[in-house]
Amino acid sequence: MNSKMNSQEWAREKIRSAGLRATPARIATLKVLHGSGSPLTHAEVSDKLENLEIDKATIFRNLTDLVAKNVLRRSALGDNVWRFEIIKESAHEHDSHPHFVCVDCGSVSCMEDVELKQKSTSASPLLEHVTEVVLRGHCNECA
Ligand SMILES: [Zn+2]
Ligand SMILES: [Zn+2]
Repeated sequence: MNSKMNSQEWAREKIRSAGLRATPARIATLKVLHGSGSPLTHAEVSDKLENLEIDKATIFRNLTDLVAKNVLRRSALGDNVWRFEIIKESAHEHDSHPHFVCVDCGSVSCMEDVELKQKSTSASPLLEHVTEVVLRGHCNECA
């Protein structure tokens, strides 16, 4: 997606094919997440949409709607805020990937190359279903 037009069309198509109305607010929300290399919180998305004057409650509702339609994934990474990211077309519906969280600055990175083997997620009899894998450490900037 290089040109702005393309990402606009891509977002509209993505929203429509999920069975939602492609409102300007939803398109703008999806474009912000598409342009981000890491998952974003509701506050971060709202900041980036500030000049469009979409109210924060609408943005939150749109994020939640897009999660319900499997366009976005919502992750809880241990700091009591949800982070939202687009589910890649290539991913299976409920596929997830680990995230790296910097303990100093709180930056979040996707670790999409890390694949979890079925065995490792069923290693414990106490474990029914892994919802989130979070790795913590120091990022490049903070090391
Ligand atoms: Zn850091
Ligand atoms: Zn991610």
